[in-house]
Parts: sequence; C-alpha cells; structure tokens
Amino acid sequence: MITGLDCFDAFGDPNTVWDEGLYMVVWDVPKYIDDCIPALPSRIYCNKEMIVPLEVAFLNVINRGLTEEFKTWDGCFQVRPIRGYETTVKKLLASGQIEKAMVYMSIHSWGVAIDINAFENGLGKEPKMSKEFVECFEDAGFEWGGNWKRKDGMHFQLTYIREESKIYRP
Ligand SMILES: [Zn+2]
Repeated sequence: MITGLDCFDAFGDPNTVWDEGLYMVVWDVPKYIDDCIPALPSRIYCNKEMIVPLEVAFLNVINRGLTEEFKTWDGCFQVRPIRGYETTVKKLLASGQIEKAMVYMSIHSWGVAIDINAFENGLGKEPKMSKEFVECFEDAGFEWGGNWKRKDGMHFQLTYIREESKIYRP
C-alpha cells in the first residue's frame, strides 16, 4: 500500500506547490464516459498517473452494467492530513520533521486517490458497494479502502507509483 511518504519521495511536498504542475493535470473525461456515468464531472484534476487507471475503471463500470451504482463523485485532489491526524501533522511540520509528517498525509494530497458514493460509505462505517463494483476499480489498478481495518469504503487509491513517473527533486 502506498503512503504519503511514498508520494513525498515521488512527487515532493504538497504543502509547497513549486512542482505540482509536473505531476498534476486537468483530465477531460471522455464524453462517452460522462454520458454513461452522469455523476462524473466533465474534468478531473488528478495526478497524471491516474488517467489510464481511471479510464479503465470507468469503462469496467460501464461494460459490466454497473453505472447505476455510481451515485456520487466525491473528489480526488485535496491537500490534507489523514482524518484524525491533523494535530500530529501540524506539530511535526512545525518542528521541521517533514518526512514523519508525510506519513500522516492523505494521498489525496498528491491526487492519487478518489472518493465515490461517500454519502453511504463513510469512514469507519460498513461499506455499501457491491463486490462487482469494487472489482471494476481493483481490476484497473486501485486498492479499496473498504478492505482496511479502519474501513474507508468511498476510497480508492493507486496500488503503486511507476518509477518513470517520479519527479526527482533538486
Ligand atoms: Zn479518500
């Protein structure tokens, strides 16, 4: 499972925006996908690494006849700590322990995770997604938060970051 520290090593510190443009992109969702999944926005601001896996996952949803299960789109990019670790991150950053702080950053901070159907798949709640729907994303290279000890049923994140996509910081 990739963590904030892996993302930090690959892309840098999301609290300083100097290199965000090197790995983030506005992806125009293909019209045929939007037409089939109305819950999706027409463009998604995400990590470049997400474009292919997202397109494959959405096509899986369409081809497997599961578009009705796709009810709400709840976002991708947001720089923030993992819920519950806000104070920890603040303290670590204040004392200059950047790498330790990154461990507790949500990987939404680097645009490599998405949330879907949040209203019925809240953090720590029993997820309401079908196995088939979850598999659309797992088959496309995502890990599902609904399998975690602290269940996060709305959450899908990339399973790995390709070597080639990493930004090497000065
Ligand atoms: Zn999430």
